[in-house]
Amino acid sequence: METMIKTFTIEKAKTSKIHDVDFENLSFGSIFTDHMLVCDYVNGAWQVPKIVPYQPLTLDPSAKIFHYGQSIFEGMKAYKDEAGDAWLFRPMENYKRMNISAKRLAMPELPEAYFMEGLVALLQLDSDWIPQTAGSSLYVRPFMFASGTGFHASPADAYKFVIALAPSGSYFSGKVKVLIEQKYSRAANGGVGYAKAGGNYAGQFYPTQLATEKGYSQVIWTDDNEHEYIEEAGAMNVFVRIDDTLITAPANDRILDGITRKSILEIAKDEGIPTEVRKISVTEVVEAAKNGSLKEMFGAGTAAVVSPIAAFGYKGTDYDLPELENSYASRMKKRITDIQYNRAEDKFGWRYKV
Ligand SMILES: *Cc1c(COP(=O)(O)O)cnc(C)c1O
Repeated sequence: METMIKTFTIEKAKTSKIHDVDFENLSFGSIFTDHMLVCDYVNGAWQVPKIVPYQPLTLDPSAKIFHYGQSIFEGMKAYKDEAGDAWLFRPMENYKRMNISAKRLAMPELPEAYFMEGLVALLQLDSDWIPQTAGSSLYVRPFMFASGTGFHASPADAYKFVIALAPSGSYFSGKVKVLIEQKYSRAANGGVGYAKAGGNYAGQFYPTQLATEKGYSQVIWTDDNEHEYIEEAGAMNVFVRIDDTLITAPANDRILDGITRKSILEIAKDEGIPTEVRKISVTEVVEAAKNGSLKEMFGAGTAAVVSPIAAFGYKGTDYDLPELENSYASRMKKRITDIQYNRAEDKFGWRYKV
């Protein structure tokens, strides 16, 4: 039985910051709307969610988030169509994944109504902040962390769930050059790689910095055991096209089960593109690059939707990918964004009206 929210407490901002925002020149996730949703977990229960003016949070220095890193998040977007109606894309998938992450980090699961009704109420209140300029959207960041106190290394007894919103332009511009990682790992068997846990990102920053110093903009993560199988592209899932087949690694312990990834697999099937979900070895990709059968590689995730890869570095050699007309990457990006922005029929039932 799902708990229904009886009442929301809504405290409106006295003044709006919206007139200070240049909607034509939005960066990604750096300005925030007038309101946020906050819900506390105390004494073993989630309290009634509150929508309040966007503001700093106050925490005790011994809050366990600072010491033991119980912190998870989600990333989604709200889109506005030409008529001015607002939409989400498969939000229940984000809700379910948030609870999968919560469970892995020994955090309390959130009731569906708190997430979904809270999200919709917040978006309705701040709907003027959903940009209508092409390629822009309102980035939605639900997150949960341990607010409970004490230096004892154990799960906290109190948590905060927050949803914050950031009007954003497109995430990446242009094609990226990536480095196939041969030393560091993003995730390990039995670890937390499949959870959207903050610590997974902290662990990625240093190897990514090293790659950046060598002229690459992202790391292609490989398996932690042999560094021989391609797993993710930065904080995105990865697709490889060899001849006409679109291949991606299976979601497992170490790989985040991306919503963009699974949407691409369904669209590819719908378009009659051959797909394979299986391990992809670096040897196979390098061979394919050498013999010309490697047509495309791209990352897939909510922020960029699809991020085409121009070249990859491996053991000191750079391999360029061809420039393709009508690439799978551009076709997938178009199909997905057309659904998101309500420009096309939604035969899969992925759009969700706010
Ligand atoms: C969020 C994320 C993705 C992409 O997931 P989407 O649901 O498509 O946004 C892929 N890999 C990692 C590591 C992620 O954190």
